[in-house]
Amino acid sequence: MAAEDPSASTETHASPIKAARQSGKKTSSKAAGSASKTSEKLARLGLRKDMDFVLHLPMRYEDETAIIPMHDAALRGGSTVQVEGVVTASDVQYRPRRQLVVTISDDSGQVVLRFLNFYGSQLKQLAMGVRVRARGELRHGFLGAEMVHPGYKIVNEGAPLPTALTPVYHSGEGVPQALLRKAIANAMTRVNWRDTLSPARLAALGLQGFEASVRTLHNPPPDVDQYSLMEHEHPAWERMKFDELLAQQLSLKRAQITRRSKGANALPVTGELSNAFLLNLPFSLTGAQEKVLAEIRADLRETFPMQRLLQGDVGSGKTIVAALAATQAIDNGFQAALMAPTEILAEQHFRKIAAWLEPLGVKTAWLTGSLRKKEKEAANLLIASGEAQLVIGTHALIQDNVLFKKLGLVIVDEQHRFGVSQRLNLANKAEAGKVPHQLMMSATPIPRTLAMTYFADLEVSVIDELPPGRTPVVTRVIDQNRRDEVISRVHAAAQEGKQVYWVCPLIEESETLQLQTATDTHAMLAAALPGIQVGLVHGRLKPAEKQAVMDDFIHNRTQVLVATTVIEVGVDVPNASLMVIEHAERFGLSQLHQLRGRVGRGAAASVCLLLYQGPLGGTAKQRLATMRESNDGFEIARKDLELRGPGEFLGARQSGEAMLRFANLETDQWLVEKARNLAADLLKNDPLTVAAHLERWLGNKEEFLRV
Ligand code: ADP
Ligand code: MG
Repeated sequence: MAAEDPSASTETHASPIKAARQSGKKTSSKAAGSASKTSEKLARLGLRKDMDFVLHLPMRYEDETAIIPMHDAALRGGSTVQVEGVVTASDVQYRPRRQLVVTISDDSGQVVLRFLNFYGSQLKQLAMGVRVRARGELRHGFLGAEMVHPGYKIVNEGAPLPTALTPVYHSGEGVPQALLRKAIANAMTRVNWRDTLSPARLAALGLQGFEASVRTLHNPPPDVDQYSLMEHEHPAWERMKFDELLAQQLSLKRAQITRRSKGANALPVTGELSNAFLLNLPFSLTGAQEKVLAEIRADLRETFPMQRLLQGDVGSGKTIVAALAATQAIDNGFQAALMAPTEILAEQHFRKIAAWLEPLGVKTAWLTGSLRKKEKEAANLLIASGEAQLVIGTHALIQDNVLFKKLGLVIVDEQHRFGVSQRLNLANKAEAGKVPHQLMMSATPIPRTLAMTYFADLEVSVIDELPPGRTPVVTRVIDQNRRDEVISRVHAAAQEGKQVYWVCPLIEESETLQLQTATDTHAMLAAALPGIQVGLVHGRLKPAEKQAVMDDFIHNRTQVLVATTVIEVGVDVPNASLMVIEHAERFGLSQLHQLRGRVGRGAAASVCLLLYQGPLGGTAKQRLATMRESNDGFEIARKDLELRGPGEFLGARQSGEAMLRFANLETDQWLVEKARNLAADLLKNDPLTVAAHLERWLGNKEEFLRV
């Protein structure tokens, strides 16, 4: 990838960091070595070209413009203040552990500075009589007002104070703020400041100029409205947010246009197979399923590839829709592929869809990583010869040696579990010059602002209705101490013929420990539930073993299934109506919602018990409360986004994450809409501006989006 080689870049590539170093001391070979180490560290922060540095905007500001008299400062305990005084006591204490304790005083009072780690040089530096300016969080300690590990410097009496706010930059370990500031200042002398948006456009949008905005943010003038600067509401911030949103829109829309320009095979006919399938269904489609199916069918008739995201809450019935889309490809003489993120889910899809379609004469193939070599070869043969009309599997489908004869449609289930490149790989498996139609499915509903930004390159269909006859799952949050009561409840439910999932705690640090816990829990429940069959499923089982366990549960030979999170996605056993999740506080919101979606799939009223171990932190409390109060996937996703931010929320689609650093999708909706409109206009009418804007804001990052 050319973009990774900085020398191939068109922008001037004077290294801002070397310049910053050289302006100091003469470069010895040792200094040069550490400069290149520093460059590496900076590159890790995404800082390579001058413009990267210029757009590395402060993460926050510190107010060092005023000195607070110590007496007044003491009244503001808990806040960050700057004080200045002369050292009146300084010594090393050993209780409770070795520390340097320095007292400084001014006319109004005194403050203790406490250093738990310190160098000998600091001890010398902070000698009696020396004047110190210290900045930190003031607390009320044993000796009165104190600061632990304050920032400080030695000053002369009357040393000038900064007149403006001091920017603080996001920096990695070993990258001092001063160095970053200098590098940014150097870069600012060299970049091309030309505004990518004309004065007329800016006026129409009510935005201020690029250069003025950047300069304000790096070097806030003394009279700036500090509040709006700190809160990211200043017009300078608005311009930056708008610019990055515009870059994101341009880039996604352009990627979409590029993909559209590659042809796809039109799949117009919904023939015999589709019709037979619909006739054979034991139920009729919901209105929402009908609606999204119509949207998908219309897309498939086009000669450019469908790029559609199908969203629907857990249990809303996406699988049928996927199968119907597949029949349309098959009716047209093409192959369809369905990729799922786990073996359990892929297998379940396979069984279900094969059971629907094989009686109608459709030839299916099954491909996962755990197949024996012979089986894989056989599957590959079926796929390559075109004999297999529908192929279902896991990541194994995107291996190089899997060649399709005539791939017309790719369906990706739980798309957020896959990386962008994995989806891309599957999309590349059509014949040369053609791209297959793509249907991506997700049970994590995406809030509207997110859909408008990160998924601006996809068409979105939503199944916003559950099949009839479902009763909402009742959720209770219960202290782990009451586990015995919960076990009795499980016992009673099982005796009434209900089936139960018991989900073991997530132990991120250790898979072994997680496995151990699952095994222990299984033994404990088997002993505590006489007369009840208890199964155990976890990620370490061989696929055949896993399937045997699942089969026992599906056919009600076991009533209680102890499981790790392998059951998170897609598992469908309608008779299961009670779920217990241990240490629910360790799970994320969407994960809890997915897990809970395993019950409430049949007609029986279902219950989900979230056991937690107190004391709970703030977000954990909010997560559990959200689960108790809502069954609505959209509402839960909105809350999840609020608690985690878009980067984590979107997971694998990191591509977008790097693109939005400043805009806040909760509060900047109005900017999103403006950016979207301008992007459409520019793509139609002004390719030069598009190119300039993308180069400035995305440089080499855009590669990620060529999906
Ligand atoms: P998800 O959207 O979570 O993938 P599934 O496709 O697994 O949901 O469907 C959940 C359950 O609802 C399945 O048992 C499926 O057979 C059933 N189902 C799907 N559509 C309908 C419908 N229109 N009427 C009744 N049941 C349906
Ligand atoms: Mg599903």
